[in-house]
Amino acid sequence: MTTGGGATHILIFPFPAQGHMIPLLDLTHQIATNYAGRISITVVVTPKNLPHLHQLLSVHPSIQTLVLPFPSSSKLPTGAENVNDLTPPFFLTFIRALGGLYDPLIRWFRSHRSPPVAILSDMFFGWTHRFAAELGIRRIVFSPSGALALSVLYAMYRDAPPKSDVVSFPGIPNCPKYPWLQMSPMYRSYVDGDPDAEFHRNGFVDNMGSWGLVVNTFAELEEVYLDHLKKELGHDRVWAVGPLKPIVDDDDQTGPTNRGGSFSVPVDSIVSWLDRCDDRKVVYVSFGSVAVLCNDQMEALALGLEKSGVHFVWAVKEPTKELLDGGCGRVPPGFEDRVVGRGLVIRGWAPQVLILGHRAIGAFLTHCGWNSILESTVAGVSMLAWPMQADQFINATLVVDHLKVATRVCEGVQVVPNSDDLARAFIESVSDDRAERQRAARLHEAAVRATKDGFSSAKDVESLIDHLVAPETTSK
Ligand code: UDP
Repeated sequence: MTTGGGATHILIFPFPAQGHMIPLLDLTHQIATNYAGRISITVVVTPKNLPHLHQLLSVHPSIQTLVLPFPSSSKLPTGAENVNDLTPPFFLTFIRALGGLYDPLIRWFRSHRSPPVAILSDMFFGWTHRFAAELGIRRIVFSPSGALALSVLYAMYRDAPPKSDVVSFPGIPNCPKYPWLQMSPMYRSYVDGDPDAEFHRNGFVDNMGSWGLVVNTFAELEEVYLDHLKKELGHDRVWAVGPLKPIVDDDDQTGPTNRGGSFSVPVDSIVSWLDRCDDRKVVYVSFGSVAVLCNDQMEALALGLEKSGVHFVWAVKEPTKELLDGGCGRVPPGFEDRVVGRGLVIRGWAPQVLILGHRAIGAFLTHCGWNSILESTVAGVSMLAWPMQADQFINATLVVDHLKVATRVCEGVQVVPNSDDLARAFIESVSDDRAERQRAARLHEAAVRATKDGFSSAKDVESLIDHLVAPETTSK
């Protein structure tokens, strides 16, 4: 089925968390840019998430939106429509509440004159598999996690290993055993019998039966795990399309800046601050869009930065009042005065891609969120790894142990690192002869190549589109 003009109509359904929305909207941008005549797009969001589409829609006014009210839930904080509005205990309830969009979406489809022939939806919307089956359309899973992490998630949710000291995944090549506490807290809640976690687990099992899978990764980075997923799901059902490129619009004079938030420090000031620094001597510190450190961790980190003497940019997520009152997210008083001139603290949202791409950045202390890892890889910046939760321990396996472009400096969401160890790691991270740096530079070349015409990820996007526009009876 097509919309007017012969284009194949697809529905894109991003999960409302920055780490999930950003890459799927980047892919939407890429499809709209390169396949405007062949594909027409509708994006589903709830009202408060509409501003996150602003940049995409300003570049591609032809993209339609379907704005559906957030399903009411007495268990969620009033007005919460994005993971950004929540603290961890609510995540599973939030994911389940969004399942309430099933009926409104079905009604929209049935009333549409030319409804989508396929739905490309986030891996946290496993229920869209059943939804697609009911409508007789194709469902493609979008994974904002990498292929190794997704392989582990799929094996974990399918095999449902019971609680034990360590969990192993013998079917996944080169996959280490992980301590129980490093398994996703959502999975641990499932094992503890949480009904919302069971809904989430069922969604992951549904994901595995979906028509296709799109992963934000590239062959040169994760070939062995992509092969593993293809073996499990079908060789012609998996597309690796990364590293997805940020949406750049006419306002982005200095490169991609507006990736989902406004900045506490003007972009120009950040750039001119970095311009005054030496090449590859600045450490960038960020723990993504969700994590807020407890005050003990904030102090250890601040002390480590202070003792190291290195230049740094530290992006500090603005804590909610509740978190602040609970002893989290406070930059130690007086810290910024003590490091004035060599340290820049950005509160709230930082233009991460822009910062990582600046010649002054020499290393990135990251929580190992997959987007951060890819962005660092594209920038050719080696990492200091502090995985905390979710898929981050698995991502750290890849970048620290397999690819050796990162060094592990701490592990765990509650662990307080030693400030002397941190200081040493910061100093080493910006030393010119660090082996991780040379490897990161090589990986950067592979990352840039992957998305060029004729190379692996560009070819996979092309193949995905070819399959989407093919008649529905054609199996991939
Ligand atoms: N991000 C950003 N500025 C910030 C914090 C995060 O631009 O101040 C972006 C970052 O560039 C990445 C995403 O938000 O694209 C975070 O995703 P990631 O997978 O690294 O971590 P998560 O937030 O999901 O834990």
